[in-house]
Amino acid sequence: MASEKEAALAAAALPADSPTIFDKIINKEIPANVVYEDDKVLAFRDINPQAPIHILLIPKVKDGLSGVSKVPEAEERHIEILGRLLYTAKLVAKQEGLEDGFRLVINDGPSGCQSVYHLHIHLLGGRQMNWPPG
Ligand code: C5P
Repeated sequence: MASEKEAALAAAALPADSPTIFDKIINKEIPANVVYEDDKVLAFRDINPQAPIHILLIPKVKDGLSGVSKVPEAEERHIEILGRLLYTAKLVAKQEGLEDGFRLVINDGPSGCQSVYHLHIHLLGGRQMNWPPG
């Protein structure tokens, strides 16, 4: 399997509007372990968990009115979905019993090790986190 850095570099080389694996998950073309879904947000367990609980929260639409590929591409029209993602992270953290705390992460671009260009928040919990992150 490619390293995280290699995967991030490969993803960055794709055309900006390429469909991603998350589009297939949203469209139920490939399975995912979904823990929360509404009309705007989908949350599912990461296939390669970095903590006992590792969930991804994604907007259901990538480039339409409620979606964005990455944080630097966010526009004013994305404010509602950006807030909704954060609020949903709170709901899912509670649902997962993470009363003692958790970590939210957004990787951006090659240096941030972003490997899927469909905005997502990582929700990590169930173990003691360390700082600084790698
Ligand atoms: O922040 P980054 O873009 O690297 O995160 C993408 C995440 O998507 C990875 O943690 C990876 O394990 C996850 N993934 C997944 N299911 C897939 C493909 C990727 O959970 N089918």
